[in-house]
Amino acid sequence: MNTSNFIDVILPLAIRETYTYRVPDSIVCPPVGTRVLVPLARKTAVGIVYQLHTESVSPSIQIRDIIEVLDPFPILSDTQMQLWQWMASYYMCPVGDVMAAALPAKALDHLYTMDNSVKRRVKLDTFTDEIKEKKPLTTAQTLAHAQIMDAWHNHRVVLLQGVTSSGKTEVYIHLIADQLAQGHQVLYLVPEIALTTQLTNRLQAVFGNQLRVYHSRITDARRMEIYRQQRLDDQPRLIVGARSAVFLPFKNLSLIIVDEEHESSYKQQEPAPRYHARAVAIILGQLTGAKVLLGTATPSIESRYNAQTGKYGYVTLTERYQGLQLPHITIIDLQRQYHRKEMYEHFSDPLVDRIRTELNQHKQIILFQNRRGYAPFIQCTRCGAVPKCTDCDVSMTVHMTLRQLTCHYCGHTMPIPSICPQCGGEMRIHGFGTERLEEEVHNLFPQARVARMDWDTTRKKNDYEAIITSFAKHEVDILIGTQMVTKGLHFDDVSLVAVLSADHLLSQPDFRSSERAFQMLEQVSGRAGRTGSQGEVFIQTFDPKHPIFDFIQRHDTEGMYQSQLQERELFHFPPFYRQISLILRHTDQERLTIAAHLLHDRLALAFGSRVTDIVHPSIAKIQKWFILQINLRIESNANMQHAKNLLQEHIRFVESQPECKGIHIIPDVDPM
Ligand code: ADP
Ligand code: ZN
Repeated sequence: MNTSNFIDVILPLAIRETYTYRVPDSIVCPPVGTRVLVPLARKTAVGIVYQLHTESVSPSIQIRDIIEVLDPFPILSDTQMQLWQWMASYYMCPVGDVMAAALPAKALDHLYTMDNSVKRRVKLDTFTDEIKEKKPLTTAQTLAHAQIMDAWHNHRVVLLQGVTSSGKTEVYIHLIADQLAQGHQVLYLVPEIALTTQLTNRLQAVFGNQLRVYHSRITDARRMEIYRQQRLDDQPRLIVGARSAVFLPFKNLSLIIVDEEHESSYKQQEPAPRYHARAVAIILGQLTGAKVLLGTATPSIESRYNAQTGKYGYVTLTERYQGLQLPHITIIDLQRQYHRKEMYEHFSDPLVDRIRTELNQHKQIILFQNRRGYAPFIQCTRCGAVPKCTDCDVSMTVHMTLRQLTCHYCGHTMPIPSICPQCGGEMRIHGFGTERLEEEVHNLFPQARVARMDWDTTRKKNDYEAIITSFAKHEVDILIGTQMVTKGLHFDDVSLVAVLSADHLLSQPDFRSSERAFQMLEQVSGRAGRTGSQGEVFIQTFDPKHPIFDFIQRHDTEGMYQSQLQERELFHFPPFYRQISLILRHTDQERLTIAAHLLHDRLALAFGSRVTDIVHPSIAKIQKWFILQINLRIESNANMQHAKNLLQEHIRFVESQPECKGIHIIPDVDPM
């Protein structure tokens, strides 16, 4: 007689526990990591075997049978399972959330079966490009390469800090080639937006069909096929991908590169798991034994600090390729310009002159404004009313081409009112976004060929690529864009970069505001003067005395870091303290307040001064959900697991109180 087999199954749902099922005698018990089809309420769902045991947990609960085993072998390796467990525990979320984020959507389809033919021919491997030799490294790059190899003897993680255009990518290419030659696999992470043909062509030219590209813009079938091949084949491979590529299976993984490691888009904000791909990559390195290289011109304070304390190895590249100088920075005082009436719309006279000069010399120009749409809001000149979204606590952004107001949080739209809906007064447009900038550029430089790159102009699959390609071919003279134009792009003829308004970068209510502003300004500046002669950068601001501009003018990344570090220590922020935010949401504002106070009181007792007051976020309502926040800042050397367990208990308690019914409490570990 058979003993009954029970399995715990992970389902891609935001539930706390795994689900227990019985494996009927007619089915051979599937190993951990295998996909199974199970009944769930009145439907079915695809789950992953998490654990096997021979006794049902509680005999009182009725346990149902699994329906079917979907694959001939586990689709998850042991390493992946360990990584999932680490994520669920570290980010305080159900492992089902990790599953939903980690697998291609097709894996949740019960009709899909992973077959185990390695040789199945696919489109993936039919690169036609001829393989070229990699470029020889310069003396400085050769030294950096050797220092990185050396640092890996004592450190799993090494930070490569190299100024923009110093050839970091060339150094990566050499490191990758070393590993592939030894038969290993390499994972190369980049921020989603930097995944252009500029980068992939460069890699493909050297690595040919050893390269695989994995990101959200390829079809799901293709993502699944890459996943399948990675699960099966142990050939030398280079996977280049956005953050979700950390979830791919690997055999022989020996190197993980995290390029632009400072990028906040490595952090997934919504939905859970709210993970940071850099952190996950480092854990993946630990689990697989792979070395990790973090690369950037502008390190995050956290990584730079880890290099300073010796936790990471640290290597620098201080010169641009071919000894080119870093761009020259001019700060323009907008207050003075307006006072003297030396402005045309949002362009100062010196900037207009400079753009003319560059255009006359057939150079290209990038104009940066980190706000899309025509203008951030419209206001009544008589009563001061500002149209707001009905569901979110934000003003509606003006979009002129669409002739409507749009909420950038939920997409709600309404027509632009010609008179004030409250008092009938005259409405006036305030501020400017990329769309308005484009209009002003057409008025100022009617001969120039202009393109705009922002969320609105890159909605379709190939838009982004098309804009970059035409700019690279110099079919466009002036490129206007949001932060999309700051990411790792290389254009030969860009001589001038202008930041139309640096002020709102600096006024964010966040302890990372200065760090981010510096990174963004330094990165966007780095697009200027990458070949030939020194680039020029104009930054317009109402606050030219802000200390950040001094650091920017001297490209003083180190000075910036030191000053930030002092502030972080003084005000108990990372890297000296670890932060966990609790985001509380409810559609009923009163219940939200009750729950927040209850939770806050309990946490204050348990954690003392490590708990902040209840924070009212600058946007208090999104899509009908009211929001409050409580932050915890815990000493870096404290027992975090203990703190998280305690926190989890208090969250559960509050969630179970009748007066808090309907509350959502979402932990965000290491929020960004
Ligand atoms: P980074 O990644 O540091 O911004 P890149 O690797 O993109 O810098 O290098 C900037 C430019 O200089 C690229 O066009 C690159 O091809 C070129 N370059 C850098 N190093 C070399 C080298 N050793 N040989 C030839 N070209 C190089
Ligand atoms: Zn809205």
